[in-house]
Amino acid sequence: MPDAVPVVALGRPVIFLGPPGAGKGTQARQVAQSYGVPHLSTGDMFRDHVGRGTPLGRRAKPIMERGELVPDDLVMSMVEERISRPDCANGFVLDGFPRTLPQARKLDEILGTRPNGEPLVVHFVVDPAQLMRRLTGRRTCAVGGEIYNIHDHPPKVAGRCDHDGGELMQRADDREEVIAERMAAYERQTRPLVDYYRGRGVLRDLDGMAAPAEVTRRIFGLLAAQPEKSR
Ligand SMILES: [Zn+2]
Repeated sequence: MPDAVPVVALGRPVIFLGPPGAGKGTQARQVAQSYGVPHLSTGDMFRDHVGRGTPLGRRAKPIMERGELVPDDLVMSMVEERISRPDCANGFVLDGFPRTLPQARKLDEILGTRPNGEPLVVHFVVDPAQLMRRLTGRRTCAVGGEIYNIHDHPPKVAGRCDHDGGELMQRADDREEVIAERMAAYERQTRPLVDYYRGRGVLRDLDGMAAPAEVTRRIFGLLAAQPEKSR
């Protein structure tokens, strides 16, 4: 549980920016829940549209089934529709979006037409080597799903779950080559957003390597601060 309970409305869009595996998703969900605003990820949006069989969903489905990247215009239409719903009027949290400069610029266009549309961008600063060590050290119990880390949170008996003795496995997503590829994609596509938002004066750096509870505490501190005018 967060130890700083927000007392005011979020009142603006908040964007969580940082490399894969930095813990953005968990923090974004917690912030959204604490402020009572929607937590938005494009993955959830696509699943929703595909599930409801909307025109957007029908266009996206075959692309997703082929494992290809959904084109920007489709992503943007979906995001624009979602953030124009009434539940986003008092702010929302974007997790894993925008991912590219064109998306960020288009999002700014959309937000620029809204009252309180100026976003706050929380940038998770990480040490890549330390993050890689943390992620490749993860092991998951094949029986109960408990999560361990061979470096920071090892089981009492190597390779065995403390609770049920289940075998500890490394998920395919936690393999070094998979993580390295996702990190490289982040550096190439998403890293430029750090400079873009910093130049706009809306970015705040956050030590993403701190303990999760401490990260949460600092995020609430950033959100409680008055927004600076930059436009
Ligand atoms: Zn277990």
